Amino acid sequence: MRHRVDVAVVGSGFAGSLTALALTRRGHSVALLERGRHPRFAIGESSTPLAALLVEELAERYDLPRLRPFAKWGTWRAAHPEIGCGLKRGFSFFRHTWDAPFCDDPDRAGQLLVAASPHDAIGDTHWYRPDFDAFWVRECGDAGVLYLDETALARPRRHGERLMLIGVRHGQPLTIDAGFVVDASGPRGFLAHTWPIAEEVPRFLPPTQALFAHFEGVERFDACAPLEAGPPFPVDDAALHHVFDGGWIWVLRFASGRVSAGAALTDALASRLGAARGETAWRELLAHLPSIAAQFRDARAVTPFVHQPRLAYRASQVVGPGVALLPSAVGIVDPLLSTGFPLTLLGIGRLVDALSASADPARRDAALARYAEQTRAELDVTERLVAALYASFCDFPLFKRLALLYFAAASFAETMRRLGRAERAPGFLLCGDARFRVALVGLTERALARPTGAARDALLDDVERAIVPYDVAGLGDRSRRDWFPVEVQDLRDAAPRLGIAPHEIDALVARCGLTTPRPAAPGGAA
Ligand SMILES: Cc1cc2nc3c(=O)[nH]c(=O)nc-3n(C[C@H](O)[C@H](O)[C@H](O)COP(=O)(O)OP(=O)(O)OC[C@H]3O[C@@H](n4cnc5c(N)ncnc54)[C@H](O)[C@@H]3O)c2cc1C
Repeated sequence: MRHRVDVAVVGSGFAGSLTALALTRRGHSVALLERGRHPRFAIGESSTPLAALLVEELAERYDLPRLRPFAKWGTWRAAHPEIGCGLKRGFSFFRHTWDAPFCDDPDRAGQLLVAASPHDAIGDTHWYRPDFDAFWVRECGDAGVLYLDETALARPRRHGERLMLIGVRHGQPLTIDAGFVVDASGPRGFLAHTWPIAEEVPRFLPPTQALFAHFEGVERFDACAPLEAGPPFPVDDAALHHVFDGGWIWVLRFASGRVSAGAALTDALASRLGAARGETAWRELLAHLPSIAAQFRDARAVTPFVHQPRLAYRASQVVGPGVALLPSAVGIVDPLLSTGFPLTLLGIGRLVDALSASADPARRDAALARYAEQTRAELDVTERLVAALYASFCDFPLFKRLALLYFAAASFAETMRRLGRAERAPGFLLCGDARFRVALVGLTERALARPTGAARDALLDDVERAIVPYDVAGLGDRSRRDWFPVEVQDLRDAAPRLGIAPHEIDALVARCGLTTPRPAAPGGAA
């Protein structure tokens, strides 16, 4: 079989499918090639407000109305109850001490709760990827994308200006004659193996490993630990982070009762636990973390444990002659702070626009070079911040303060995008904003030196100062003792500092459904 297309997209996770659909809407003929078959297990499930906004923007920009409901919990559940998802009201962090139950003090020194939404209807989501990704592949088929699964591809061959993807499908030889190839096959994927593209060693992050599975029977953490009543959101309806020396555990709850959980561990801890042993290592880890062990007491894994001996990945190349990698194929830093989706969704829009902007090869190459530069810059700042957080696992007050850099940048960017002023918040983690980028680079470098005494105190103060000009969420208010609800008043207070008129805030609040939050019920019921 031989097919001639404008663009071949390799890899049919949601990112490959959305890229294929957007390219189709821009008038390109597209083939979507997958080595496996849907539905299939995929990791990377937790969305964020910025990812939700990007979903809405992609839906608008590429005329994909069926994408729009997936931006929010309420609209997703109403439009597609058959596609699994979980409610994510915010980010919950709890600090655990090895071999001791979780306990806290009146200052809530051992926790950080940052709300992403004031109520469930506009809450974020965890995407149950087997359902979600299969849905988008079906949409591709309906939109006229040539979808070929169970396809094994060899190294692309150049033929003049075009690339030949030669492979085998169901025992039959196959050739895709493509004007351009987009690699959407994830880390260490298609081009990494066949082109090949060298792997770079992370510059700031220590070597890490991952161990994860899906579970049933996982207890809510607020039923296992003595938590103060009245959190800004039920702490389990969130991306729940359990942080400890040498790593952290994520717990993401789907509405079906299924839970995605796993650990990101430094090499030192992973090898002490023998992480390659899978479930045995997981149990051993929990044996040292009694409150998390209580949460998983009656849990059972319903998918095989996956051990990734190298979690972080970085490709040395983003674009080449006739090819480009999506951000998710260029790099993964860590699941901490759920950065994968927004980085990928930002990249989809940029890449599709670069490929559609002009038929003039020189202009297209210039657009692709810009795409490559932005992709690298965003992965760089993400790695810096996550590495600084890893360096601060043992100093939780510093960890929390550094994490607020992310929340300040994210909530500022969301606000500006919602106000139609995206240009004031350029790049992921504001990496196109010189003042913020310089501050973030300097502060994270100081954190990587693991400061103590006066140097550490100065760092805490300087992080706080760096956040002030971008703070739209009351993140500098110490009286909140590290519980940060979504308060419309914070936006109103920040408006004069940001040069935003009160009526713009009122319009934003009405448009986005940002009504005053209701207090969460004690015990966690939503
Ligand atoms: C442990 C872990 C946890 C994460 N958690 C989060 C999170 O909570 N939030 C977040 O935002 N991000 C998270 N991420 C990142 C997230 O997984 C990615 O951003 C996301 O999966 C990107 O989706 P994708 O469609 O690009 O890639 P994938 O989901 O990896 O899909 C790639 C597809 O390509 C196919 N493929 C691979 N090789 C080939 C080939 N040679 N030929 C054809 N097809 C091929 C695969 O079968 C697969 O279907 C996490 C990542 C990891 C590793």
